[in-house]
Amino acid sequence: MQSTEFMIPTSVSEALDNISREDAIFLGGGTSTALLYKTRMIEPSRVVWLGKVSELKGISTSATTVRIGSTTTMAEIAANREIARLFPGVSAAAGVIGNARVRAMATMGGALAHADPRQDLPPALIAVGATVSVNSSSGSREIPLKEFYEGFLETVLSPDELVTEVSIPIRSNQRSSYLRYTPTSEGDYPTVGSGTSLIFGPDGKTIEAATAVLCGVGTVPILADEAARILIGSSGDDTTLQRAAEAVRNAVDPQDDERGTADYKREMASVFTYRSLKSCLNS
Ligand SMILES: Cc1cc2nc3c(=O)[nH]c(=O)nc-3n(C[C@H](O)[C@H](O)[C@H](O)COP(=O)(O)OP(=O)(O)OC[C@H]3O[C@@H](n4cnc5c(N)ncnc54)[C@H](O)[C@@H]3O)c2cc1C
Repeated sequence: MQSTEFMIPTSVSEALDNISREDAIFLGGGTSTALLYKTRMIEPSRVVWLGKVSELKGISTSATTVRIGSTTTMAEIAANREIARLFPGVSAAAGVIGNARVRAMATMGGALAHADPRQDLPPALIAVGATVSVNSSSGSREIPLKEFYEGFLETVLSPDELVTEVSIPIRSNQRSSYLRYTPTSEGDYPTVGSGTSLIFGPDGKTIEAATAVLCGVGTVPILADEAARILIGSSGDDTTLQRAAEAVRNAVDPQDDERGTADYKREMASVFTYRSLKSCLNS
């Protein structure tokens, strides 16, 4: 096993300088990386730990946007009152990940870049229209989170690109939710997770925009576009919610595994989308 250099930059520009070596990796809380390292699935010659880069830490709220720095932990997101008020689904997702020890260490950047399709945070953030800001030595770019995932453990990021923050637009008349189904232990990944958002028009009664996103039932988070189409123009009455939830069955692409058959997961995706939409209406 080759030796690994451990870098501790204190600024974004230093972190970007540090990553310039071919097999260097960024490290947030290390909760995913530690397992990959231990099992020798990765053997980086350099690890660039982001924990001392103060520019990447914290949550700020303006009149139009909430920004979450990439080294903000799941525990910090779950405990933030503005996020709980504006985006209850994001707050709920951050608050159910793993256990208290994982949430104290796991960072938002790591939770997005790891790209395990069962992860809770992506569907909750995609549902409320989050955008990822990314920096590298060749420049910066903004990526809508719904376009961030390419496959199992794969994102659009190149190895030298650093996630710096996530921004979420604040929209009036928006309600959102995240619910997950874990038949095993509470601290385990979900079998299915459902992030939903409904935006009501000026009358406060008619749905103008809707998003339903599922995790655990495909190689990437899945947007259920047909479900959204069914919801738009309705008042969110129960018959429409049921039709939308039914449409989710055709959007997802689950596999048989130890957590259940593909058919069973399709059913759970539909049931939990219905409940998540109900929870939106009650939020
Ligand atoms: C016991 C246990 C239970 C868990 N249960 C759940 C669960 O129920 N639900 C769930 O969603 N997840 C769960 N997880 C996974 C957990 O969410 C992830 O491990 C965690 O979010 C990763 O964050 P991190 O900061 O620790 O990432 P790290 O391990 O530090 O990094 C993960 C990946 O992201 C890259 N990276 C990190 N930060 C950045 C950045 N700023 N820019 C670019 N790339 C970056 C790293 O290079 C690495 O490839 C569990 C993990 C454990 C260990």
